[in-house]
Amino acid sequence: MTTLLANYVNDQWVNGTGQGIVLKNPISGEELVRVDSTGLDLAAAFKHARDIGRSQLSLLNYQSRASLLKQIIGVLNENKEKYYEISEKNSGTVKNDSAVDVEGGIFTLGYYAKLGDSLGTNNFLLDDSQVSLAKDQSFASQHLYVPLPGVALFINAFNFPTWGFLEKMGPAILSGVPVIVKPASSTAWLTHEIVKDIISAKILPAGALSLICGSSAGLLDHLEPFDMVSFTGSAQTAKLIRSHSAITESSVRINIEADSLNSAWLMADVKADDVIFDLFIKEVCREMTVKSGQKCTAIRRIFVPEHLFEQVSTALSARLAKTVVGNPSNPSVRMGSLVSIEQKHSVLKGIQDLSAVAEILFDANQSPFVDANLDSCCVAPVLFGIKNAELADSVKEVHELEVFGPVATLIAYRDSAQAQELIARGQGSLVVSLYGDQHESLVAATLSVAAMHGRVHIISSETLSQTGHGNVMPQTIHGGPGRSGGGEELGGIRALYFYHRKVGVQAHPNLLNHL
Ligand code: NAP
Repeated sequence: MTTLLANYVNDQWVNGTGQGIVLKNPISGEELVRVDSTGLDLAAAFKHARDIGRSQLSLLNYQSRASLLKQIIGVLNENKEKYYEISEKNSGTVKNDSAVDVEGGIFTLGYYAKLGDSLGTNNFLLDDSQVSLAKDQSFASQHLYVPLPGVALFINAFNFPTWGFLEKMGPAILSGVPVIVKPASSTAWLTHEIVKDIISAKILPAGALSLICGSSAGLLDHLEPFDMVSFTGSAQTAKLIRSHSAITESSVRINIEADSLNSAWLMADVKADDVIFDLFIKEVCREMTVKSGQKCTAIRRIFVPEHLFEQVSTALSARLAKTVVGNPSNPSVRMGSLVSIEQKHSVLKGIQDLSAVAEILFDANQSPFVDANLDSCCVAPVLFGIKNAELADSVKEVHELEVFGPVATLIAYRDSAQAQELIARGQGSLVVSLYGDQHESLVAATLSVAAMHGRVHIISSETLSQTGHGNVMPQTIHGGPGRSGGGEELGGIRALYFYHRKVGVQAHPNLLNHL
């Protein structure tokens, strides 16, 4: 039988008492390791993190907690090659795609280490400046951000076992809040290995970091009013979590990052021989294929002016045809597999559903995969299209069904009002990209869709280098309204506010000056 990965609770490694869930190699089907959380004393685990972890971390300040993050980065950099190997075996990703997760996670942690350094030796943050409340100036108001005296539970999705955990852990630890991580079972091995390395290095104080691999059963039952829960995953699971009594009755603070039908919008004034046209084609293709499209921010809907539809379709298909799909250990392969057989079935079902409402413009699934057979979890890119702007008005499914793989739909629009209306049908997304060169139309387009998104990514040909549509940068907020969860993470110091409580203090200005 394969190795059973232990959980880390109460500052001890503890095995679950059940058979466990088996993690597999998505190319070969080989059984890799098992995870199990059966029989864990969750009540004791949460209490330990809340009591010991919180009190230990609160003895430190922003700067000293930032130095813990720096030490963690050192450990992760030393062990990086191991993380890439696990990612290839368990997630089926090529090295460049594993880097989005591994390097992205370490970079984000590094960003928060630097930010923490700049916050000094205090233990709370000031919000803006004092406001006088009395004509004689002897009474005023000052708002503070004070760390919440609870524990942060992270329930993560399968697609970012490194970044998904580190991008949350950085701001939480910096805020002095202990963390309990529950990675998605199918890729929990990598998160487990990273937590193991951090714990072995004895960097963090007791109770600051716990890991629960396997079933999520009962986790939410142990949340208390000052705790926080961050969830990343499907809208279905988000709905279950939102309805738990910890949230509905105890007002546990919650952040949700869920499904998202992100868009790319090519402005009507662009011509097929413009530089911006090529940049658009490259980015859409990259977004469809990086991590086999298993990115919450990936472009799912591509809006182009009706007269450019054929040219975009031809250019995108030609570029997608160059994507070599197969076993990520083969150096010629550019796109690996989906993460599991369940995801493959879900993506194939999504492709079937979309083919009922849109035309298939490109589908590479008839060609053999490199070093991977048909039983593997590989799925090649599929591009759907709705070339008639009139028809686009009546098709609903492309705006509602998130196919979590290398799949997107090209949609023709007749004017910017229609493009805006169709984009809005996503009912709230993480990110929209705008491609064009006329500032006036870009600004108008930005304002027309900004409220439906967490991020607007604008590319004009004067931009010589950029971070990419789907890359989540710690400097900019990540999260979106409506169906994408209504959450907000990152965005520099803003990330820390989730772990702090804003409180108004009213007193004499002299007293407030001491804060
Ligand atoms: P999922 O099935 O909803 O699972 C997400 C996490 O929730 C996993 O850790 C899962 O554990 C856990 N979970 C399942 N049932 C639960 C319950 N009843 N109570 C508490 N936790 C529960 O989602 P997924 O398939 O891993 O991820 C794919 C989805 O995530 C996609 O739809 C994608 O759009 C979304 N996503 C969004 C973002 C974003 O930032 N917006 C980022 C990445 C992914 P088990 O694995 O053990 O079941």
